[in-house]
Amino acid sequence: MRYIENTTVGLPATDGAGVRLTRVIGTPTLDMIDPFLMLDEFGSDDPDAYMAGFPDHPHRGFETVTVMLNGKVRHGDSAGNDGVIGPGDVQWMTAGRGIVHSEMPEMTDGRMRGFQLWVNLPSALKMSPPKYQDISVANIPTARFEGGTSRVISGEYGGETGPADPGVPVRLMNVELDANGLFEVEPAAGSNVFVYVADGEVSGMKENGDDIGLGEGVIAVLSGEGGVNVRAGEAGAMLLYAEGEPIGEPVARYGPFVMNTRDEISQAMDDYRAGRFTG
Ligand code: MN
Repeated sequence: MRYIENTTVGLPATDGAGVRLTRVIGTPTLDMIDPFLMLDEFGSDDPDAYMAGFPDHPHRGFETVTVMLNGKVRHGDSAGNDGVIGPGDVQWMTAGRGIVHSEMPEMTDGRMRGFQLWVNLPSALKMSPPKYQDISVANIPTARFEGGTSRVISGEYGGETGPADPGVPVRLMNVELDANGLFEVEPAAGSNVFVYVADGEVSGMKENGDDIGLGEGVIAVLSGEGGVNVRAGEAGAMLLYAEGEPIGEPVARYGPFVMNTRDEISQAMDDYRAGRFTG
C-alpha cells in the first residue's frame, strides 16, 4: 500500500492583478511534486477577491491545467485563441515555447471557484508549439463506484478514460465521496501521487499503518508502492487526485517560466521582452 508521507496546508497568496488564492504546491513548505510544479485553489463569493483577474502574462516550458468548479473565466492569447471555461470545464494549456495570455472572470457576482495545476514538461517538449485543450464538462466521463464518483480528466479510472492529452503521463481526477465513502486507486508504478482535500475530510494510512485524518485544505503526498485508499468522514468529501510520472530533470523556475537551466530562463526573459512569444 502507498502511505501518507507528508501533509501540509496551502498558504494565502495573491497573484495576477490581485486575485486572492490559496497556494498548495509551489510554496516554501511544498516546493513541487515532480512533475507537478504548482497547485492553486481559487475560491470566493467576493468579487473583490477575483475581479482583477490575470491580465496579459507569459508562460514558457510547462502546462497549466484549469479546473473550474463555479463561475466562468475568459481566456485570450497572443495567437488569437479565445474562449470561456465554465463550471466543470477544464482547460489544459501547453505553453510550450511561449504564449502571452489573459485569464479574466466573466461574471461580476456570485461564486468563483476552481483549481490551477502546473505540470512540467521534459526538456524535449519545453519548446514545443503552444496548444489548448478546451474540455467541456459534458466530455469529462464520470466513473461511479460504491462510495462516490470520480470525474476522469486525464488517464483511466473505473473503465473511463479522460479526454485530456497531457505532455507527460498524468492521471487527474476530481473525486466526490459520499459519507464514509471509500476511494481506492492503483497508481502506476514509480509515479508521484497527491490527494488534495477541497471539501470535507478523509482518513488515510500512515507508514506505520495507523490512520491519519486529513481536513479541508490539506494536501497529502503519498509514498511507497501499491494502492491508495482514503475514506471520507460523515460529511463526505471532494478531492483532487493527481498522479504523474516524474520527469527527473533539473528545474529552473522564475515566475511564469519553468526551464532546466538559468541560461534558459534568461533566454525566456529576453524572448518575452523582445516580443517573441507570439504563439
Ligand atoms: Mn496563466
